[in-house]
Amino acid sequence: MGEIRLSVVAPCYNEEAVLRDFHKRMSRACRFATGEDHEIILVDDGSSDTTWSLIEALADEDAHVVGVRLFRNHGHQLAVTAGLSVAKGDRVLLIDADLQDPPELLSKMMRIMDGGADVVYGQRAARMGESTFKLASAALFYRLLNKLSAVPIPRDTGDFRLMNRTVVDILRGMPEQHRFIRGMVSWIGGRQVPMPYVREPRFAGVTKYPLRKMIAFATDALTSFSTVPLQLAVWLGLMSGVFAFLILSYAVLQWMLGNVVPGWASSLVAISFFSGVQLIVMGVFGEYLGRVVQEMKRRPLFTIASIRQAGISTPLPADYYKLGVAEQGALLEQRFLKVSG
Ligand code: UDP
Ligand code: MG
Repeated sequence: MGEIRLSVVAPCYNEEAVLRDFHKRMSRACRFATGEDHEIILVDDGSSDTTWSLIEALADEDAHVVGVRLFRNHGHQLAVTAGLSVAKGDRVLLIDADLQDPPELLSKMMRIMDGGADVVYGQRAARMGESTFKLASAALFYRLLNKLSAVPIPRDTGDFRLMNRTVVDILRGMPEQHRFIRGMVSWIGGRQVPMPYVREPRFAGVTKYPLRKMIAFATDALTSFSTVPLQLAVWLGLMSGVFAFLILSYAVLQWMLGNVVPGWASSLVAISFFSGVQLIVMGVFGEYLGRVVQEMKRRPLFTIASIRQAGISTPLPADYYKLGVAEQGALLEQRFLKVSG
């Protein structure tokens, strides 16, 4: 069991424009749901604007705030993972800092969890202020993912969810570098209950998910939840085998009829077709192989520069990164998290 009732984890990457409003609305929602027994963990994911000094200021004004500063930008999913590693609550709420997920829904999620759920996840009944391209690509992506993955991953969900301590501990124990948290939580199982909500437009600032990051995120999701694309080679191989047989029969027939000279066009087509197929298959292998290489290195998932709470900044001890993941967690708990509001 955790030491306090609720931890909120919000990743923040260049969110200076929204942080104050987020803090105001989030702490009001926490007070309403749990009274004083909560902490709000703001993870600065290597921002280049004033996000960290704002978080420091918030941590100094409000003892419920725990600021965690990463050394550099590790990306949304790892920033959330860093936040989870310091969260002490019996329950943990994951929420974006840009107020697209309304903090006011916390009470409702807590009530659903009181009824016995292990996870309460937000499911977008509507999404406001998103481009048609984002909506269409997301719909297509979740269809494909569910076709390919053995674990059903609910569509129209993000990482906005409330989890109990058991689920959080299992999640923390999952060591992969390429994390698709909403899928990993589905994989854990237990009683997972959807809560439909209207996703608001971003309150201020711009999206931190340009197309490039969206593609990387989708590839991570597919490769970590399905190995079906690896079988692509077999299917394409069979298909092109049939195709090659047809071409061969045609060639033999022409040879028997004495038409031996023409045919450079059909060879050219066949060569380029087969080399295209081979390159695609090699590319798919490469995506998986690259991830195997990265997982094998067993690097830490994130690097914490310092933690700020109740007016005190604590750097990590020098030997922190020599420890295994479990020891790192234990050390964080001992050294930094005793001071609490
Ligand atoms: N974020 C982060 N690191 C990143 C990108 C995003 O911590 O590298 C945070 C961001 O500050 C926000 C959340 O992840 O709190 C979701 O990002 P965003 O709102 O930009 O994505 P979108 O809602 O547009 O998909
Ligand atoms: Mg957003």
